[in-house]
Amino acid sequence: MITQNLGYPRIGAKRELKKACEKYWSGTIDISELLQEGAQIRKQNWKEQKNAGIDLIPTNDFSYYDQVLDMTFAVGAIPNRFKELFSEEETPLDVYFALARGYQKNGFDITAMEMTKWFDTNYHYIVPEFYKNQTFRLSSTKIIDEYLEAKKLGVNAKPVLIGPVSYLLLGKEKEDGFHRLDLIENLLPVYEAILSELLANGAEYIQMDEPFLVMDLSEKEKETIKNVYQKIAEKFPDLKIILATYFDTLGSNTSLVVNLPVAVLHIDLVRGRDQLKSVLQALPSSLKLSLGLVDGRNIWKNDFSDSLKIMERARNVLGTDRLMVAPSSSLLHCPFDLDSENDETSLPKEIKNWLAFSKQKIEEVSVLAKLASEGLTSEKMKKALRDNEDAMLSKKSSHRIHNPKVQETVGNISEVHWNRKSSFVDRQFLQKESLKLPLFPTTTIGSFPQTKEVRVLRSQLKKGGLSPQEYDKAIKSEIKKAILWQENIGLDVLVHGEFERNDMVEYFGEQLEGVAFTKFGWVQSYGSRAVKPPIIYGDVDRLSPMTVEWTSYAQSLTNLPVKGMLTGPITILQWSFVRNDQPREQTANQIAMAIRKEVQDLETAGIKIIQIDEPAIREGLPLKKSQWEEYLRWAVKAFRISASGVQDDTQIHTHMCYSEFNDIIKNIAAMDADVITIETSRSQMELLDAFVAFKYPNEIGPGVYDIHSPRVPNQKEMESLLEKAALLIPLKNLWVNPDCGLKTRGWEETRDALLAMVKAAKSLREKYQVEVS
Ligand code: GLN
Ligand code: ZN
Repeated sequence: MITQNLGYPRIGAKRELKKACEKYWSGTIDISELLQEGAQIRKQNWKEQKNAGIDLIPTNDFSYYDQVLDMTFAVGAIPNRFKELFSEEETPLDVYFALARGYQKNGFDITAMEMTKWFDTNYHYIVPEFYKNQTFRLSSTKIIDEYLEAKKLGVNAKPVLIGPVSYLLLGKEKEDGFHRLDLIENLLPVYEAILSELLANGAEYIQMDEPFLVMDLSEKEKETIKNVYQKIAEKFPDLKIILATYFDTLGSNTSLVVNLPVAVLHIDLVRGRDQLKSVLQALPSSLKLSLGLVDGRNIWKNDFSDSLKIMERARNVLGTDRLMVAPSSSLLHCPFDLDSENDETSLPKEIKNWLAFSKQKIEEVSVLAKLASEGLTSEKMKKALRDNEDAMLSKKSSHRIHNPKVQETVGNISEVHWNRKSSFVDRQFLQKESLKLPLFPTTTIGSFPQTKEVRVLRSQLKKGGLSPQEYDKAIKSEIKKAILWQENIGLDVLVHGEFERNDMVEYFGEQLEGVAFTKFGWVQSYGSRAVKPPIIYGDVDRLSPMTVEWTSYAQSLTNLPVKGMLTGPITILQWSFVRNDQPREQTANQIAMAIRKEVQDLETAGIKIIQIDEPAIREGLPLKKSQWEEYLRWAVKAFRISASGVQDDTQIHTHMCYSEFNDIIKNIAAMDADVITIETSRSQMELLDAFVAFKYPNEIGPGVYDIHSPRVPNQKEMESLLEKAALLIPLKNLWVNPDCGLKTRGWEETRDALLAMVKAAKSLREKYQVEVS
């Protein structure tokens, strides 16, 4: 039985690529060193997959920033504003990075391309920009280069491309009067050029990712898919396309998809377990099936007996020759290697035995194939199966997982838990009385630059080089500096700066019961950023306060309000590896009750404003619209449970970013936060379109500048964004803030940007004061 992998993590086992990219950007290493690091990682990845016994090994799954941006580069879809850079003696790679990060140098001031979530994951891709009648041309040799590079190393390479239809659908029209799918005629020849070059160089299988095939498709989208694959098949009769779908079932697209003229169809049997029967029934005899059995999105060991049953069912219908085994999706979303985790205190052995990271997952794929084709003929296979059964049993019965106290608390959740005492209007009145903020109050989203010095403090604490007391003192000194710094800039609502946090989810994960964490379990979030998702393995509880000391210290230093800063239940859920033995709703409610206790403790400590970040609420949306309502019902409820345990005059904020929110704006309103700060600046306040039809009832701070780019915005720019907002949002509800936390930025650029932002707010205050009074 053929084994394949759809994609491997590319940041390196110890985040080598992140480090190399950042060094390159800051000028500490040159391009050849960066390229060398990239080549090293690819080589290592291929070797590991080969050693594991994977038959079809992906290439072009590597990227210096993002695989969608790679495709944009390959087909020459480079927005005009960047084109001058080619003549600026910038290397293609520098232009590539400029697309992702913006370019503010040599008199240029070019904004980065937009970034958004990759389906329902926490990975962000760079959104292609499309124009009417846009033309494309083959503009990069990356795909072929990596294929040849792998072949030279003796690897059975399978190039991976984002399929043309999904590529277009991932993008956005930047002008009116056309649909991006209309560009397929212009785009397809470039894909054909790539395919023909790969074929000429000996490629056998080529993986085309068309993840949109698991979503609701319009007639036009269906037509385009059919035509595209028909044309490719006609042109390349010998090409073996593996059409990869993942993250959900094919659902009502099943018959469309199985009838496409490709060689292999890959389906996700983890997220889309139920689809096996319907796919098997519909599969024409010309098609092979790749079974996505090993979870590409989560870190639990595969349940071998269960998978073998599924394989058996498929084999009974198709026979061994028509089957492949694979992870459910690319392993981009899983950490690298469980063997690097050797710290009992963060990840006890018992729990470790329930897990598999990417390296272990490809081994699982390989073992599954062997078990299915050879059975239990060797001692090795017998042991593999026995060990796996033991791990499954231990996970089911472990006392670490079940906490009766938590189950009782969550069982008793009722209306009183998810409703504030009074309506927003009454709360707003009380809050305005008590907080006495000016019109257009200014604030930030929570974090301030995480400089090297701050990160060193944390690592020294972990290594024992700093005592907890010394660490406390050092963090407090950072907080003190930040408070004075914010007062000087003239902000109205301050934050403590989140210096003690490595990451907004990991920080809480480390303090909650039922959650384990890793040392090297990094997963790429965007570009050079990676996160280390906690592992929620059991019932979640909060035993003692997690943030109160830092926040009240900050508040003790100033007369201005300091916002308490928490991460919300859905974001903790969404950005963690979640247990797979109970519904997500149940886990969300447990986390919500834990956060609720923290909110109440902050209030008791005298904190008047508390922000509960929910940047991930939208990415949790199921891919099929028909399932949205059910998800939103429990997600909104979980947020409300976390936020509703306070008095009316305590102001609850929430924050969201990275996504478009227009289609769920009503549900966001139903969260009933007193204030929401929300990302809008990268898309020039497109969010506001939603406010034409829907009056957002509570206060709102549409982000006025993009913090994901080092570019410093100017006052006028922010003023004009605010003016746009002021046309649609009642002035008394409007806040002024950047569009996300500032931890990835430097102090200097942050100061310049915030000074300009405060000036913009003041200038608007002058302009509109009369209207309000
Ligand atoms: N409070 C967090 C911060 O400022 C929010 C980050 C986020 O939304 N991703 O970093
Ligand atoms: Zn944010």
